[in-house]
Amino acid sequence: MQKIQNDLSALKSRNLLRTLREIESAQGPHVQIAGKDHLLLCSNNYLGLANHPALIEASCRATRDFGVGSGASRLVSGSMSLHHRLEEELARFKGTESALLFNNGYAANNGIIQGLFGPEDCLFSDALNHASIIDGCRLSGAQVQIYPHNDMAALEQLLIDASKCRRGLWLIVTDGVFSMDGDLALLPQLVALKERFDAWLMVDDAHGGGVLGARGRGTAEHFGCLAEIDLQMGTFGKALGGFGAYLAASRPVVELLINRARAFIFSTSLPPGVVAANLAALKLVDSEDGLSRRQKLAQNRQLFAAHLQQAGLDLCGSETQIVPVLTSDPEPTMRAASALLEQGICLSGIRPPTVPDGTCRLRATLMADHDPDEVVAAAELIIQTLNTGLTR
Ligand SMILES: *Cc1c(COP(=O)(O)O)cnc(C)c1O
Repeated sequence: MQKIQNDLSALKSRNLLRTLREIESAQGPHVQIAGKDHLLLCSNNYLGLANHPALIEASCRATRDFGVGSGASRLVSGSMSLHHRLEEELARFKGTESALLFNNGYAANNGIIQGLFGPEDCLFSDALNHASIIDGCRLSGAQVQIYPHNDMAALEQLLIDASKCRRGLWLIVTDGVFSMDGDLALLPQLVALKERFDAWLMVDDAHGGGVLGARGRGTAEHFGCLAEIDLQMGTFGKALGGFGAYLAASRPVVELLINRARAFIFSTSLPPGVVAANLAALKLVDSEDGLSRRQKLAQNRQLFAAHLQQAGLDLCGSETQIVPVLTSDPEPTMRAASALLEQGICLSGIRPPTVPDGTCRLRATLMADHDPDEVVAAAELIIQTLNTGLTR
């Protein structure tokens, strides 16, 4: 226990101790915290679907018809019709032969990479990839080469060097939208490299799915290279408002993962209500309503970012609904986040080890159903708070 207390004290003294904030209402553009209304600027519920009546209705109906639990893993008796229907819809949506559900994005990245790659293979991974990709790479036992964030020349050099004694499969793996800075992977360049070096390409589109591309099919649709991505991983917990994750890929890949991915094999499958909500979300994303939500989100993002940029703030190269504002050290960053919370704005302060030392951020995320006037007011309050010297 002393060791645990020491670890906690060490975190606290460096302003790195994380605690949980209790949200007392449903997930909307505003939430209740400590009995008070707050504008929510740190949710991944980008399209406002987490509390959408169509998803709630689908979830309730499936729960009444099929119960609350699936009772077993997919390979035992937990492979229900709803799971199969959602996988068919996903494959159709993404234009792949097949798709496979996972219980969440963390489990998907673990399971996909561990299930397909082993010690004889080599994985090339962007330095800013999500923790679940990093953990999946470790779990696979494959050789891992980290390339500097979005540095295509450095990646090319790594591939050239590795070609000298090549064996096994090669995978280039990247986030589609990077979760901390909201910038995009350079997919066209990655596609060219993967073709030139005969590697696989995996894109984790947790933050791009539902949001980017005319039909919401994500970062690869945005760049017009959906068919070139071998392993398209996505999640339901963010823009799609629900819970769960998937891989869209070829049939043999899915068949092998059913046999090898430990995160898939050794875990109870998603509950019927969750799967039904995901089906409803997918339908909504690929509709006129989805399109208009994407447009509103893009407008809110533009409004917010333009205000911050005019004030001279550094938005870390953000190109999407994830808008970080570069600050400096943990203490002033967290002080600014608390000051904003007191003024009714909930956003997150990002500290090491999530980001490198000295590059803390206030990270805001926009939603389609934010009121544009409130978005502008929030941007102005952020500028004011940072200008009062709180981060210096
Ligand atoms: C959120 C996220 C995940 C994990 O997805 P969950 O469904 O929340 O477990 C994986 N990859 C990226 C890039 C993410 O942002």
